Amino acid sequence: MPKRSENGLSRRGFLKGVGAAGALGAAGAAAMTSTQGWLKPIAADAAADERVAYTYHHSHCGGMCPLKCTVRGGRLAMIQPNDICEDRYRTICLKGISEIQHIYGDKRIQTPLKRVGERGEGKFVSVSWDEALDEIVDQIKRIQAESGKGSVMVTSGAEADVPFLAPVLGARGGGNPGIDVGIGNGLDPATGMGAGYAMSAPEARDWTKSKLVLTVGSNYCESSLPSARLFFEAKEAGARMVTVDPHFSTTAGKSHEWVPIEPGTDAALFLGMITHILESGLADTAFMANHTSLPFLVNAETGALLKDREPSIDPEKKAPVPGQLDLFYVIDGSGSVVRADKAATTVLSGSAEVDGVRARTVFDLLKETQKQYSVEWASRITGIPADKIRELAELYAAGPSSLCLGWGGNDKMSNADIAGHAAAVLTAITGNIGKEGAGVGVYVGASYGGYAATLGSWALPETLAAGEADVPMYDLRYKENSVRAHIAVGDKLAQCMANMSKSEEWARSLDLIVTADPYFTEAAKWADYVLPLTSRFEYDEEIGNIASGYSHIVMQQKVIDPLFEARTDLWLTREIAKRMGVEDALPKTSLERAQAVLGTSEDPYVSSLTVEKLADNQGMWPCEGIAEVRRVAMDRTFPTLSGRMDVYYESLVEDAQELPQWEPCSEATWDNPDRERFPFQLINVRSRFRIHNQFNDAEWLQQFYEPTLNANPADLAAYGLKTGDVAEVFNDRGSFKVRVSGNEAVRPGSVRMIEGATADYTVEGNMQSVTNDEFIARGSKLMCGPVIPFSDTLVAIKKA
Ligand code: SF4
Repeated sequence: MPKRSENGLSRRGFLKGVGAAGALGAAGAAAMTSTQGWLKPIAADAAADERVAYTYHHSHCGGMCPLKCTVRGGRLAMIQPNDICEDRYRTICLKGISEIQHIYGDKRIQTPLKRVGERGEGKFVSVSWDEALDEIVDQIKRIQAESGKGSVMVTSGAEADVPFLAPVLGARGGGNPGIDVGIGNGLDPATGMGAGYAMSAPEARDWTKSKLVLTVGSNYCESSLPSARLFFEAKEAGARMVTVDPHFSTTAGKSHEWVPIEPGTDAALFLGMITHILESGLADTAFMANHTSLPFLVNAETGALLKDREPSIDPEKKAPVPGQLDLFYVIDGSGSVVRADKAATTVLSGSAEVDGVRARTVFDLLKETQKQYSVEWASRITGIPADKIRELAELYAAGPSSLCLGWGGNDKMSNADIAGHAAAVLTAITGNIGKEGAGVGVYVGASYGGYAATLGSWALPETLAAGEADVPMYDLRYKENSVRAHIAVGDKLAQCMANMSKSEEWARSLDLIVTADPYFTEAAKWADYVLPLTSRFEYDEEIGNIASGYSHIVMQQKVIDPLFEARTDLWLTREIAKRMGVEDALPKTSLERAQAVLGTSEDPYVSSLTVEKLADNQGMWPCEGIAEVRRVAMDRTFPTLSGRMDVYYESLVEDAQELPQWEPCSEATWDNPDRERFPFQLINVRSRFRIHNQFNDAEWLQQFYEPTLNANPADLAAYGLKTGDVAEVFNDRGSFKVRVSGNEAVRPGSVRMIEGATADYTVEGNMQSVTNDEFIARGSKLMCGPVIPFSDTLVAIKKA
């Protein structure tokens, strides 16, 4: 049986640490609010006092499933897919269904709490909302008076609904946390899309037009069930599904073919495929010449692209205006050097003398650098047979092919940007983008990849604005910064930061930590105040917020009243605004905000929609155009500086990464001398039972999954371990204890755990105690800064 929490938040738990008189008083309240009596089975035929309401689920898994909720006797009794939408959007998974139990679970924060023990000790007493908020706001005012507005940082998780909180306080946001940006850092500068998160792919519905769907480092059939449905549709339509993964993942198991690869070597696979395609004449010459920067001339001495002038800058965005093809020089069909916008025909290979400068094409530089990366070389690095690499390259080049990359997997390795950059070059030389059945990026998540509506917003006065982050979140623990208070809506401390001992050190250095969340998370243990928020199912008005996702505009309706003393995110913001003297700037009701979100949209399709229409349509409305598959760059133009696929990264010349160059990951290599002491790579994976660290506490899911270290049975046997034993997992950063499970799907030399395992659910300690927090040197020059290399981690195991 999974271990039940003994040090969590239930009143029984937190009262262990406080005085007897207080314990007695609150224990009475605990009996009244105990969830145990509420979990009696609901009679299936119960009909009295039954109503139905609609809301939507977690966007963070990428699904954002629209939900139909049945309430009986005031209690949430059944959750089903919303049945008003087209069949393909009627999805739900175990996590969605489990909310019937989860929202009543004993990890719900029932009342505002104030710390009484040492920070991180987990000892709290119950206080009133007024007491908590008065004290919090007094402290915020004092800290800001002493150290400036930006000394208070507000962060929010994907589920939070607090857009006004940082502006109300004049606080800074978190800035980039360094998660999910590994591949995008390398891929997105080339496409101009993806926002650094590799979200440059068409909708996964497009897979039905692909000949090959090549998935590298993504396991959406396990972690994003709406994508799994599209996977099987594509398979039935005749696409060849090939999955490259170190482990025999769920997606690999459902594919036509699984290609095992050494962890952290995806870039080497792509480099080997590029070489084979170029050497075999399989590249798409017309696409390269007309739609990429491969024909552009480069100063052979400095590596700088030859430019006609400095790029024009958009004063509002403070970024270069996209589509300035006339900046660049190429060699035209007659052998003359001309501006790229003037060339009727363009050659890919050649050199020229321009104003005394020797210049070469990017394509020639690529061919030259690729000489190091033969297929045989790639085979040695990746462990994939050379013939298989050739076969994949030929299939991919023939196209149309979709290249599905992932968050998780290689994305959380220190060299992930090189894999992303190599994927961009692979796409560019084959033209596998901007046509049916072709694309590159993260296809996971129908809400991320589908249509999005341009929603409006409630306008705040100009005097209320969030401050800039002086140091991004990923650097807070290492660089001097002004942050003295952290207001966290959702868990950041344990979820977004590797190497827990450093996170704890940072938490101790702060003057104030507030956690607001429906559930008592690991981060809540470090808070001075813990505030109970409502779940997506509870609201204090009939209408909650409005969002766009899963190709629909969706509306949260009240399903049940707020549980315990939980309050909505908007209520919390308004109460803080009241104490800051700016309450009048906020919408008085949630309905007022919902009306503004629709009515102020610049898109007439959205602004003509009303809350009433949405309510009449069971809380959802299709985005314009969803009958057609959403595709990208179909006119072969890209929002890059040149308007083409810009595969040459001038900003990385000093780092010798202007074109992708192989570099092993920083820790989990076979020749790292530390491998003697720490022989296993620990990979964080995604799962059907979790979204990051959410749902750890859903008891219905706990029946099926306890945090477990999966390892190859032969590796376990070598350490005297067998399934069910408890092992200590450790390295120089720290340790934790967890049960082990033998699993032949796991690559020998690696161990695998579902991410987000925190101390309440392992046998002892946090998974983040051992994860790697070292950044690569070029990290600060990358689009979103360095990625946190959670999975570039070596550990040892021993019987505990
Ligand atoms: S977790 Fe994702 S797939 Fe599951 S019900 Fe929620 S939104 Fe849908």
